[in-house]
Amino acid sequence: MQVKDKLYINGAWVAPSVSTTIDVFNAGTGAVMGRIPAAAEADMNAAVAAARAAFDAWSQTPVATRADFLNKISAGLKARSDELAKCIVQEVGTPIKMASRIQASLPIATFANYAKIAQEFVFEETLGNSIVMRDPVGVVGAITPWNYPLHQIALKVAPALAAGCTVVVKPSEVSPFNAFLLAEVIHAAGLPAGVFNLVTGTGPVVGEALVRHPDVDAISFTGSTRAGKRISELAAQTVKRVTLELGGKSASIILDDADFAVAVKGTLNNCYLNSGQTCVALTRMLVPEARYEEAKTLAAEAAKAFVPGDPMLETTRLGPLTSAAQLERVKSYMAKAEQEGAECITGGAGRPDGVDAGGYFVKPTIYGKVKPSSTIAQEEIFGPVLAIITYKDEADAVRIANDTIYGLAAGVWSADAARAQRVGRRLRAGQIDINGGPFNMHAPFGGFKQSGRGREAGVYGLEEFLEYKSLQLKV
Ligand code: NAD
Repeated sequence: MQVKDKLYINGAWVAPSVSTTIDVFNAGTGAVMGRIPAAAEADMNAAVAAARAAFDAWSQTPVATRADFLNKISAGLKARSDELAKCIVQEVGTPIKMASRIQASLPIATFANYAKIAQEFVFEETLGNSIVMRDPVGVVGAITPWNYPLHQIALKVAPALAAGCTVVVKPSEVSPFNAFLLAEVIHAAGLPAGVFNLVTGTGPVVGEALVRHPDVDAISFTGSTRAGKRISELAAQTVKRVTLELGGKSASIILDDADFAVAVKGTLNNCYLNSGQTCVALTRMLVPEARYEEAKTLAAEAAKAFVPGDPMLETTRLGPLTSAAQLERVKSYMAKAEQEGAECITGGAGRPDGVDAGGYFVKPTIYGKVKPSSTIAQEEIFGPVLAIITYKDEADAVRIANDTIYGLAAGVWSADAARAQRVGRRLRAGQIDINGGPFNMHAPFGGFKQSGRGREAGVYGLEEFLEYKSLQLKV
């Protein structure tokens, strides 16, 4: 049982002003695994005040010193990476192998990466009679979700600190323990008091207090489109900068000349990663009408590798969903799929065999003959549910792929790489994988349309936390 009863504010662990708490559940068993403070607005105000007070000195700290701290944080996380991975296995349900490879490793890399990016970045240049500078935007509020919890925190905190900003983090209340571990690592690294602060609680209470606060200059939010819209409205009252990384309903276009065995397997593996709780998951597989039966057979075969099981086991490829709420949500979409007349190729509603009865498990699921306009083709399910949609020709595939409110990611598969690129260029989405091209942590990450605003990762993520300023010199 992990019981956290303090918040990290102004360089110290402090008791919250209220005694309310939130239970955190083990995804694999459904048992309470710990408890965190459900802090109040007063606690958020104290954290913002600390961040504001620390800003002047931190923003003036030489870049090399800021980079040293980022490297220390990376090393501190690395030293505790096993503990971190196990923590995330329990609170998120990601199988241990993936939790080590992705959930624990990415944040370690992100902090080190921003140490390097900050030192290479050109913070000022001369333009005619002006000195054009890139100043830190100020106090940053970071609000994060539960699916890749520390990765999403690192993608905000590392570039914000690199830019010279101070930060208040409001992590997801569903998977918060990794954020406490980060705060411990940051404390041990000796970051000056107030530069990083951690306040836990619910979105409507402490999340909104952070967004409304007049002393917060920018909000970086990752989560649902619903909360992103609410945050945008609230932030408008103080004209804050808002970066949003929201939902997705990403298409994988398999062109007629593609290697179907590779493309179908690649799409399914991507769709089922982290039990489908991945914002960039390729959840709509678009195949030529004439090749539907072949794609269906290959997909059903590939799904057999995803046997739901205990996420603590090295051999498990499909863990549980993260929460009871998520389980209900995925089950309701499965019911909707049946109502809408989709063909259930494998899986569907009902508990899988051989798993802990208390855990939030669902069967790996594939629906076929899904209509592009149907609910399961349009809304983000956030579970291991693939929808197969057929198209007539290349233009039809592009039209279907672009026909959602989202535009986060996509995949294109073809034997002709130039053709795949040509199709990729016509898609209105932020990151497009050509023939299974791997994730690049230096490339811009973010979406078109209602998938968000702004970009994270690499130098693009740093620029989200910078303001332009110019000094005009007398000539
Ligand atoms: P969520 O929006 O419910 O919660 C995200 C965070 O926002 C949590 O910390 C929550 O407490 C807080 N929050 C909720 N309501 C708020 C409010 N009114 N004001 C301020 N803060 C508030 O999302 P979730 O269920 O944690 O995450 C799942 C969603 O996140 C999915 O839709 C997924 O696609 C999206 N997501 C997007 C990305 C991306 O980079 N685009 C990455 C991961 C997850």
